[in-house]
Amino acid sequence: MGKRIVLADPRGFCAGVDRAILTVQTILKASGGPRKDGLPPVYVRRQIVHNRHVVDDLAAQGAVFVQELSEVPDAAAAAGIPIVFSAHGVTPGVKAEAAARGMHVVDATCPLVSKVHREVLRFVREGYEIIYIGHRGHDEAVGVVGESPEHVHLIEHAADVESLDFRPDQPLVLLTQTTLSIDETAGTIAALKARFPWLKEPPSSDICYATSNRQAAVKLIAQQSDCVVIVGSANSSNSVRLMEVAQEALGDRGLAHRVDDAGEMDPTWFDGVDAVGVSSGASVPDELVAGVIEALRGRGFTEVSTVETIKENMHFVLPSELRRQPSRA
Ligand code: SF4
Repeated sequence: MGKRIVLADPRGFCAGVDRAILTVQTILKASGGPRKDGLPPVYVRRQIVHNRHVVDDLAAQGAVFVQELSEVPDAAAAAGIPIVFSAHGVTPGVKAEAAARGMHVVDATCPLVSKVHREVLRFVREGYEIIYIGHRGHDEAVGVVGESPEHVHLIEHAADVESLDFRPDQPLVLLTQTTLSIDETAGTIAALKARFPWLKEPPSSDICYATSNRQAAVKLIAQQSDCVVIVGSANSSNSVRLMEVAQEALGDRGLAHRVDDAGEMDPTWFDGVDAVGVSSGASVPDELVAGVIEALRGRGFTEVSTVETIKENMHFVLPSELRRQPSRA
């Protein structure tokens, strides 16, 4: 048998990422070219999704990315230039700042992230303290914690459970970031339940369908490979988790690597390897995976098989704000 590539399916874009990118593309298309006043057609707060290639591509089409709303000039706010909030969501403070400046906001927060924001507000109203498993500093976690910083207690790992302290009569509920490792989170939840047996879990896990499906598929391809390449950016939580899940499934048989694109692959990774598993994070365009496959073919991995675990048919409609056309100078 020749050297093989084992491709995971599902991989790549999820419905939330698809919607966020389409949101910016729709605004760019409707803008009809350069404005007379020299303002850009659209601003985007933070990376629309955590993928360098996607951001560079939209920037080349005219979108201007900012870290904070303060970087958007008053003239742009006054002219009604849309400002898009990324798929990861924002804090109420950011929304308030945009409202105070009269900005034309188009909110591309993934509906599954918005669901967690709503859960925070509901549980706080009902008197709960919330334990939130997430990654400190990640945009999604910042947004969710920002809904009620005094009642949302962020932990990252099982080892952090010891730092928490609640009275037994304190209602407690668990919420999580959407892109965690299912296996690692299970360990953290077990530690939480051992310490706070009355901890309530929401009716359905906050770890989203795309995260679960991609992790299940990567586990299977890793079992059939002796090296795994995950395409995704370093700041993409779900891509990094995929690499960790792949490494766990590979065990001592080989290594899992994460790359932004084929150019980052090191030829020595494939010395003595017969089968390379390939997958990609939820924010990764498939052409980047195609580039990795092409490069691997060039190294003699000519047989390509796909392991399909589930068919995804999730789709989210565009943000409602897009029904109003952006004004033009
Ligand atoms: S990974 Fe999940 S939560 Fe994040 S944008 Fe995609 S569908 Fe939404």
